[in-house]
Amino acid sequence: MATFFETPIEFLKGVGPQRAVLLNKELNIFTFGDLIQHYPFRYEDRTQFVSIRDVTDEMPFIQVKAIIRKKEIIGAGPKKRMVVQVEDETGGLELVWFKGINWVSDKIQLGVEYVVFGKPNRFGSKINIAHPEIEVLTDKNKTGGYLQPVYSLTEKLRSRFLDNKTLAKLTRELMGLSTGKIRETLPQHILKTNGFISKPEAIVMIHFPTSLEMLANAQKRLKFEELFYIQLRLLKMKMVRQHKLRGLVFHDTSLLNQFYKQHLPFNLTDAQKRVIKEIYADLKSGVQMNRLLQGDVGSGKTIVGFICMLLVVSSGAQCALMAPTEILAQQHFANLTKFTNAMKLPIALLTGSTKKSQRKEIHINLESGELKILIGTHALLEEEVKFKQLGLAVVDEQHRFGVAQRSKLWQKNSDVYPHVLVMTATPIPRTLAMTLYGDLDVSAIDELPSGRKPIKTIHKYDAHRLQVNQFLRDQIQAGRQVYMVYPLIEESEKLDLKHLMDGYESVCRAFPDIAISIVHGKMKSVAKEYEMARFKKGETKIMVATTVIEVGVDVPNATVMVIENAERFGLSQLHQLRGRVGRGAQQSFCILMSSQKLSADSKVRIETMVRTNNGFEIAETDLQLRGPGDLMGTQQSGALDLLIADLGKDGQILKQAREVAIHILQDDPDLLKPENTVIKAQVDSMRKSMINWSRIS
Ligand code: ADP
Ligand code: MG
Repeated sequence: MATFFETPIEFLKGVGPQRAVLLNKELNIFTFGDLIQHYPFRYEDRTQFVSIRDVTDEMPFIQVKAIIRKKEIIGAGPKKRMVVQVEDETGGLELVWFKGINWVSDKIQLGVEYVVFGKPNRFGSKINIAHPEIEVLTDKNKTGGYLQPVYSLTEKLRSRFLDNKTLAKLTRELMGLSTGKIRETLPQHILKTNGFISKPEAIVMIHFPTSLEMLANAQKRLKFEELFYIQLRLLKMKMVRQHKLRGLVFHDTSLLNQFYKQHLPFNLTDAQKRVIKEIYADLKSGVQMNRLLQGDVGSGKTIVGFICMLLVVSSGAQCALMAPTEILAQQHFANLTKFTNAMKLPIALLTGSTKKSQRKEIHINLESGELKILIGTHALLEEEVKFKQLGLAVVDEQHRFGVAQRSKLWQKNSDVYPHVLVMTATPIPRTLAMTLYGDLDVSAIDELPSGRKPIKTIHKYDAHRLQVNQFLRDQIQAGRQVYMVYPLIEESEKLDLKHLMDGYESVCRAFPDIAISIVHGKMKSVAKEYEMARFKKGETKIMVATTVIEVGVDVPNATVMVIENAERFGLSQLHQLRGRVGRGAQQSFCILMSSQKLSADSKVRIETMVRTNNGFEIAETDLQLRGPGDLMGTQQSGALDLLIADLGKDGQILKQAREVAIHILQDDPDLLKPENTVIKAQVDSMRKSMINWSRIS
């Protein structure tokens, strides 16, 4: 039986079949429940009236009571407008209309008092309001005292007369019908200890708040609820995995010991050692590992991944290392081959450009179990790639892979899921990590290898190029190498390439006596590889590139990163790029070049880069600037389609929700206690509708 809230929206008074189609298509509103959950995204404050004397153009919106004194139509053609003078006891104000003049002109009458609502602007010495909302003053509206909900709408809806007022009216209608039907979805004990208002009250107040305070109460409660059920589900997944998913057991440390004694080129940091211990504990626990390894750029995640592979290979199982780009996969391969050759461990590289014959050989050796370590791009996920026994899959730079891809890796073994270690390069703000990876265990390398000098970051305007070039020359003279990175600016790859080539030419002109490499996405991978190798060997001193070098590329002798048009890069991308230097013992520099004209956001980005090297701080700022969806890329933003909570702003509520969820699950893992029946019912009904969940897992 369909419940009240599953009633098709068509049947709400005032909707009907035609409007129903519009609401379906434009706002995804199909049922009563959908409309009730179409929360306002802001509110217009109609609680107060101001005196005209006090109006300034800094006020966002104002509401005044004023009498119309004069109206006139000025100008002609596109400049035609209607100007209306209004006044209250304290002063006068001008209202202006550019459109719908005849209609408005008919509506307003001289000498009558109106409620006027709009955004004040300064026009020379005068203040005016363009296209205000006006209504004749009545007993009903003269006291103010309410907050007007503003709903998200589309142009199409507006053009079909489904405007904000109409939507508010429909919602009010529905609210009337819903009295007594809205179910409480949080148990009393949560409401009580947290001081939350009830669900029915919260729903009414989120649409039609009677005060700012009640609005805040409603928001707090609904945000908590939304985040609480997400956390509950993630934590439950984690519990199930920990209890039920058998994992392959690896405790043989012979290869690891050999590596420590004979091949490890440096001392591990304490953080690296700690993380390896955590992973080792997982590998021998008999439970499948799903672990996220966070660590800032340059913190040495690769070697940790490799050491964990040794633990698996010791026992005869296989490992995969998946990187997001071909260059990065090649580099991992080149680096790790040094060790595996010395230790006589079979290793191979599989990418999109691996030749067919080679590919075949890899497939065969993989299935026979002879090949122990396979490095590659997402080519690893293809169906023909079959392991004899995949013990551990390491995924580098996770945020470029979708969650779906992560689960594909799991399927590589028919009997037991392999252990999965996900390594992220860009630190992820805590709120996002909790939501996107809330089902994973987390390890963090929170320390850089010793002897690293913090990178100095400098902002320079294009006008100072000569000075910058001289600095680069000095560095090269001192034996160092330089990256110069150009942004991908236009949608068109052709224009990008032209931009890069122009840059390359001017670099060649500025440094005629210096060997220069260039690498970009349009080059064949052999050519790319060749150029990268030349730069790595120090044969070329300057590497001109697009963002293909963004992730992972490792040339310790490169000490300067010049980023052209830095204002066009996102913050985490800038941080990633900067992480390409500062890998050796020498002082490194990051020079952010920009034009003189900067938007407010680019200013914040550049200032943040200059101020701090801390990836977590940068990630937080990035989240504030861009919002969670953008930050994580389209692949994963689905999981972040929240109805009301905002991961950029509601970190505190999220933390609270997670803590409460942990507490409840510890106490009552299957939600069988009477005080948790409300939670159980809600979880079951959400599972049935699978709204957000399908996108998360
Ligand atoms: P990321 O965490 O960004 O992936 P990498 O694994 O590429 O960092 O490591 C960055 C550089 O630091 C590499 O050249 C690596 O060999 C080196 N490195 C890693 N760990 C240490 C250490 N404990 N001491 C010195 N150098 C290290
Ligand atoms: Mg890396």
